[in-house]
Amino acid sequence: MDSAKSPSEIARETLKLLAVRRLPPSPENYRSLYEEVAGVRSTPQFPEAQLRHMARVIPCQTPGQQRQLKLFEKAIAQQDWAMLQNVLVGYANLGLAPAATPPPARSSITYLPATLAQNLARLVDNTLPALSEEDTRVRDLAAELCTFLRAPEPPVPAAERMLGDFGYRLSFAAEDQAAIRQGLLELLRLIFENIAALSMDEPWLRGQAEALLAASTPPLSLRRLDDVQRRLKDVIFKQSEAKDRTVQAQTQMRDLLATFIERLAQMDESSGSYSTRMEECAVRIGQATQLQDITPLLEEVMSSTRAMALDSRMARAELHDLRERAEATHAEIGQLRQDLDHASAQARHDPLTGTLNRKGLDEVMEREIARARRQDSPLCVALLDIDNFKSINDRLGHEVGDEALKHLVQVTREVMRPQDQLARHGGEEFVLVLPDTDLASGVKAMERLQRELTTRYFLQGKERLLITFSAGVARLEGDDYAEAIRRADQGMYLAKRSGKNRVLAA
Ligand code: GH3
Ligand code: MG
Ligand code: MG
Repeated sequence: MDSAKSPSEIARETLKLLAVRRLPPSPENYRSLYEEVAGVRSTPQFPEAQLRHMARVIPCQTPGQQRQLKLFEKAIAQQDWAMLQNVLVGYANLGLAPAATPPPARSSITYLPATLAQNLARLVDNTLPALSEEDTRVRDLAAELCTFLRAPEPPVPAAERMLGDFGYRLSFAAEDQAAIRQGLLELLRLIFENIAALSMDEPWLRGQAEALLAASTPPLSLRRLDDVQRRLKDVIFKQSEAKDRTVQAQTQMRDLLATFIERLAQMDESSGSYSTRMEECAVRIGQATQLQDITPLLEEVMSSTRAMALDSRMARAELHDLRERAEATHAEIGQLRQDLDHASAQARHDPLTGTLNRKGLDEVMEREIARARRQDSPLCVALLDIDNFKSINDRLGHEVGDEALKHLVQVTREVMRPQDQLARHGGEEFVLVLPDTDLASGVKAMERLQRELTTRYFLQGKERLLITFSAGVARLEGDDYAEAIRRADQGMYLAKRSGKNRVLAA
C-alpha cells in the first residue's frame, strides 16, 4: 500500500470506492473503506451503542437477572470484554440448578460473620415457640434456615434469600397467632358476660363474673392470666358448693311444707268426724227418754273428746316441731344468702391483702366524691409504689414479697385515719383515698406513713427489712378521679426519678 497518500486523496478515493461498490454511505462503511485505502487497521471500535441497546431489552425481573444487568452495564461503561463474557456466562447459568452453577470465585462471595449467623439462628429458634405446631411450612423453613446458618461460612446472597422467605411466611404466621389470640379472648369475654347475665339474682356470682371480665381485658400478662384462672376456679368451686347447699335446703323446705299440709288435712278430717259424732250424740241425747240411754252416749262423747284432745295435742306438738324445723331451714337459707353476699363483697377486695380492688375503689370513689361535693370538702388521692420491690422478690422469693405487701397494708391501716381507704392498684402499687383532706395535709399524712414504716420493720426471720415507698398526692378537681390518679402517678414517677423514698404533690 502506498503510504504517501495525503488524507484528502485517501478521502476522495474512499468516496469513489463507496460509489463503485454501491455501499450505503454510513459512517461505518466509510471508516472501513478509508482504512482499506489508507492501508491501516485501527483497533475495532467498542460497540457501546449496540450493547446499550441490548441492555435495555435484556430481562431483569429476578434479583439474579438484575445483578447480571448491573454487571453488564458496568462492563459497557468500562468497555471490558472479559467482564461482558462473564456476564453472558452468568446469564446462562441463571436458570440452572445451583449444583450446575460453577462455584463463583472465592474472592467474589461474601460470607456472614460467624457470630451474626449464630445470633440469627438463635433468633429464628426463638420465634418457634410463639408459632402454631400445625404450621409446618414455617417450621420447615425455620429448620432449613437454622441448619444453613449453623453451617460454616453461610454465603450472604443465600442468607438474604432464605431470611426473606422466612420473614414473609413468619409475617403470616404471626398474623394468624394474633387473630387466634384475639378470638380466644373474645370467647372468654362472651363466657364471662354470659355468667354475669345468668347470675342476675346472685350478687356474689355477678361480682365475680365482673371481676373476671375486668381481669381478662387486654393487655394481658401472664400474671393477670394467672389471676383470671385463680378467680375462675374459685367461682366454679363456690358456685357448685352454694348450689348444693341451696338445693339441699330447698328440698328440706319442700318436704316440711308437704308434711305440714298433710297434717292440716288430717286435723281437719279428725275434727270434722268429731263434730259429726258430737252432733249425732246430741241428737240421740235429745231423743233419749231415760238415763240408761244417755250413759253410753256420754261415754262415747267422753272418749271421742279425749281422743280428739289427744289428737290435737299430738298434732300441735307435731306442728310445733314442724314450725321449728321450717324456721331453721329458713334461717339456713337466709344465712346462705348472707354468705353469698359476703363473698360478693370479697369481689370488691384484693384476695392477698384484703384491701379494696379496683372495683371496690370505683365504688368508694363514687361515694366519696358525692360526699365531698355535699359537704364542700377537699378530697385527695395518693398513689404509692414500693421502692425496689423486685429486689425483695428476687432475693427472698415471691412469698416473702407477698408478706411484705401485707405488712405495708397492716401498717397503713394502723397509721392512717379510719376514714382513709386503701386500694391495691397494681402489683406493688396502692391508692389511698383521703377524704376531707387538702393537698398539703395529704402530703403530710403520706410522709407520716413513711416515717412510721421506717420504725416498724418487716421482720423476715432474723432479718429486718426496711420497706420504703415513693408517692404522689393529688387533689380531686371535679368528678374525674382517674385523672387525679394519673396526676398522682406522675408525682410518684417524679419521686422515683428524684431518688425514691419521697412524697410529691401533683
Ligand atoms: P421501683 O423502685 O422503680 O418501683 O422498682 P421496683 O423493683 O419496685 O419496681 P418494678 O416495677 O420493676 O417491680 C415491681 C415488682 O413487683 C415486679 C413484680 O414481680 C412484683 N410484684 C407485683 N405484684 C406482686 C405480688 O403480688 N407479689 C409479689 N411478691 N410481687 C409482686
Ligand atoms: Mg411498680
Ligand atoms: Mg416499685
